[in-house]
Amino acid sequence: MTFLEYAPAPESRSVLHLRESYGLFIDGDFRAGSGDTFATISPADESHIATIASASEADVDTAVAAARRAYDKTWSRMSGRDRGKYLFRIARLVQERARELAVAESLDNGKPIKESRDVDVPLVAAWFFYYAGWADKLDHAGLGADPKSLGVAAQIIPWNFPLLMLAWKIAPALAAGNTVVIKPAETTPLSALIFAEILQQADLPPGVVNIVTGAGATGAALVRHPDVNKIAFTGSTGVGREIAKAVAGTDKKLTLELGGKAANIVFDDAPLDQAIEGIVNGIFFNQGHVCCAGSRLLVQESIHDDVVDRLKTRLSTLRLGDPLDKNTDIGAINSREQLDRIRELSAIGEAEGAERWSAPCVIPDNGFWFAPTIFTNVQASHRIARDEIFGPVLSVLTFRTPAEAIEKANNTPYGLSAGIWSDKGSRILAVADRLRAGVIWANTFNRFDPASPFGGYKESGYGREGGRHGLLAYLKGASA
Ligand code: NAP
Ligand code: MG
Repeated sequence: MTFLEYAPAPESRSVLHLRESYGLFIDGDFRAGSGDTFATISPADESHIATIASASEADVDTAVAAARRAYDKTWSRMSGRDRGKYLFRIARLVQERARELAVAESLDNGKPIKESRDVDVPLVAAWFFYYAGWADKLDHAGLGADPKSLGVAAQIIPWNFPLLMLAWKIAPALAAGNTVVIKPAETTPLSALIFAEILQQADLPPGVVNIVTGAGATGAALVRHPDVNKIAFTGSTGVGREIAKAVAGTDKKLTLELGGKAANIVFDDAPLDQAIEGIVNGIFFNQGHVCCAGSRLLVQESIHDDVVDRLKTRLSTLRLGDPLDKNTDIGAINSREQLDRIRELSAIGEAEGAERWSAPCVIPDNGFWFAPTIFTNVQASHRIARDEIFGPVLSVLTFRTPAEAIEKANNTPYGLSAGIWSDKGSRILAVADRLRAGVIWANTFNRFDPASPFGGYKESGYGREGGRHGLLAYLKGASA
């Protein structure tokens, strides 16, 4: 089979107005930190993008003090209606600067521009619009007669959806009347710093949102800070555990959004063309850097060979390369560390006896890349069937009966998401009922909506983000 060649179609970087270096965003302004600086690079070619301040413990303290002042003096006294106006304004400014945000995100993170442009940034705006609408309706949300905000929220986010995770955290916190100190991931601070400029444009009162860049130590200082009332974390289960320990015995409220090893279950009556697209979207969207990725494909034995053949054919058409090219399907791996981890787990998969197939794509000379990969002959005991790889690697397992599918799907310490593909609605409902996963998609995968709560069971964490449930995490004494 031959394909028409695509001419390069790069999105222009001229929409960006980046500074050479960025300070910390505290009390409404950028200011130099008292700690070191670090560089953020493009994972697609390892080129330098900007120099970033690393917040020290003293800087974190300054940021929390600014958030406390803003909480006491302005934000907690403002009416929900007025808070909502600011959130609507932020949402509209995100839309106005959407192209710039998408280019910055793809440059810093390595994800394809068609994803940052068509998925991440539109969802960011949607999240702010959605929670803007809640700000003046908290009394009518079934959360008690007069729900009260918590105070200062400390928020720590990962590198896989930098701006979207920021929106998931900041929008409900502000709608509920809290102020915020947020720490972006070390490898992807850029879009949060552009977002800080948007907050200035929106005239958000100083100190309501503070952005402290830095590495894990900055996050740890934020978690330990005694004047923080709430911690919201998204990232690895290991760090989530450390945070839970640090918070134990304090009255800080905690929500954890951790890893996953989701089962994507394909029954023999599934609409196969649609299912193939869903499997590809489930694990190769954002290079598989997705906590709810469908990384374990459970396929009914009778259609296994057909499904694997179709998958290989489809994966052979995916274009890997420049994240800023509008035709790119698979972008760069976010960091060298993450690439090493994906390589290591894939090597273990082969050593343990699974059969590896990688799509035949040309890997660029510089930057961090990993070809879309499928493992067949995977046993439930294999590391690649148990550990979160967080990369473009799919492990294929089989089942014969619905009961076996359910048992295998639940055979994981995680419980974030799952997918079911079948023509029969009754079967979908019956299986969904028995899966221990926070989000279950039927005949689709990786769909997100601000009105829909998202979160896990077991080692995938606790608490829900999104929807009315997402407000509970930021209000006193509220329960579902
Ligand atoms: P991570 O270390 O858990 O990072 C998440 C966030 O926590 C980052 O902002 C990180 O800062 C910060 N952090 C690190 N150590 C901390 C500490 N002791 N106290 C407070 N905050 C701390 O995750 P990662 O290293 O980026 O990725 C490792 C693995 O986690 C991945 O391979 C994947 O399996 C999983 N992961 C899951 C998700 C998810 O959405 N559920 C997202 C990302 C990664 P720095 O970035 O500066 O280190
Ligand atoms: Mg970067």
